[in-house]
Amino acid sequence: AINRNLHDVQGKTKVSFEFFPPKTEQMEQTLWQSIERLAPLTPSFVSVTYGANSGERDRTHDIIKSIKQRTGLIAAPHLTCVDASVEELKQIARDYWDNGIRHIVALRGDLPAGTTEKPALYAADLVEILRSVADFDISVAAYPEVHPEAPNAQFDLLNLKRKVDAGASRAITQFFFDVEKFLRYRDRCAAVGIDVDIIPGILPVTNFKQLLKFAALTNVAVPGWMHNAYEGLEQDATTRNLVAANIAMEMVKVLSREGVEHFHFYTLNRSELSYAICHLLGVRPIAQPQV
Ligand code: FAD
Repeated sequence: AINRNLHDVQGKTKVSFEFFPPKTEQMEQTLWQSIERLAPLTPSFVSVTYGANSGERDRTHDIIKSIKQRTGLIAAPHLTCVDASVEELKQIARDYWDNGIRHIVALRGDLPAGTTEKPALYAADLVEILRSVADFDISVAAYPEVHPEAPNAQFDLLNLKRKVDAGASRAITQFFFDVEKFLRYRDRCAAVGIDVDIIPGILPVTNFKQLLKFAALTNVAVPGWMHNAYEGLEQDATTRNLVAANIAMEMVKVLSREGVEHFHFYTLNRSELSYAICHLLGVRPIAQPQV
């Protein structure tokens, strides 16, 4: 099934969109404009992040509730376990379930800066806790370039297997720019018996400077060709957007030909680039979007 043409997969492709809780009223407006623009593409689900240790879980929950009400889409809150006890997590899970939330993105979360102790709970434990409460649909994180804390790649891969064995139904990857690394990772997942979808996390990069900081923290390689692509565009947001779209489109085209049928977009609460990439993938609105 490999090496299909792009037009062969049109109509089959599934997408999901990730948002984060806005900090200002203006950011909130942008978020809702983006959700309204992307909703007619009928994503499999949309998710809303929750910053571990931020104490702002309610904001994530509020947005999830509004998305469900306003769009009818499946909305999945991200939930971290690094900052809560088992009892608290069970209570949160029960609340979510009672509010009709059936899909959770289960994460450990980053340790607070300066922590040297091992955390009490890892994401695999959270998956087990959620499963003990109700029959949630659970997504977990995967790292084609290895999570920065993992002792080695095989350990990290087997950690993903533990999360799947505990009950996760799909894995969403950290963003990446080297498509080959993703494909090799997907093969290695299959080789150790991970039988769920490994969904590439696509980040269209409009702010290259910020990306470099984030990539360094997350152990994601930024290839030389990308440095070259963004060189000299520090003051030119319009061209950066075009470059970002082009790079992400090239990536999804190759991934699509390699059989990837579900793409997860790190939208950063913007719709333009994700919308354009979806259009190219044949993911089109079911009704005319309101613009
Ligand atoms: P885990 O799967 O628990 O792995 C964490 C590390 O511990 C890995 O190195 C793993 O190999 C290692 N490990 C696992 N089990 C053990 C063990 N028993 N002993 C020793 N080491 C072990 N962060 C947020 O705060 N909020 C979000 O909303 C959020 N959303 C995300 C969405 C996606 C798709 C991704 C890819 C990441 C997201 N993150 C988010 C970041 C994530 O919380 C961090 O990467 C975090 O450091 C690890 O979370 P995890 O769920 O992958 O942890």
